[in-house]
Amino acid sequence: MSGEGNAESESQRRPLIAICDLDGTLIDSDSALSDAFVALGIDRDEITFGHVLAEECERLGLDIEDYLNEYDPTRAMPFPGVGDLVGSFDRWAVCSNKHPRSGHAELARLGWSPEVSFFADAFSGPKVLAPVLDALGVAVSEVIFLGDTAHDRHCAHSVGATFALAGWNPRAEAQPGDLVLSHPRELREFLER
Ligand SMILES: [Mg+2]
Repeated sequence: MSGEGNAESESQRRPLIAICDLDGTLIDSDSALSDAFVALGIDRDEITFGHVLAEECERLGLDIEDYLNEYDPTRAMPFPGVGDLVGSFDRWAVCSNKHPRSGHAELARLGWSPEVSFFADAFSGPKVLAPVLDALGVAVSEVIFLGDTAHDRHCAHSVGATFALAGWNPRAEAQPGDLVLSHPRELREFLER
């Protein structure tokens, strides 16, 4: 029967595995993150995103425990369409600079169970993808990294991974060469390419 060969090769082609940043990528957390800084006396204009919390607290002269006590991990909601996207994943991972206390709390609240979830405690500085690839046991060609910041792009490019920009976050700035996604469903389509 014609087409059997194609069917076999189709079945052997596995979808890419999504490794995802969390804040500003899967969850719309800017205001929750900012409000904790503002509550501690920081000017809203001074706040930037995508950093290791310990480094940002040091820059701003804050105690990290004070910040964690102010941060409300029940506030940030997934961007529209992200719940369906995450629900469609077979294997996936989270790679985030978020503090593990709030990061794991957010995942539990949302009922998300990535195969690998690495937060700031998994890295000796800003996050990198190599240990996530090791934990998944996959090659870089088998993943795509989804993020919202220049650091996320750097993470992907430094290991040769495809980078997808969470363009549904209005703060995300595209660069030439980015795969810019305007809705989470577009990542699903790309994974099944
Ligand atoms: Mg982010």
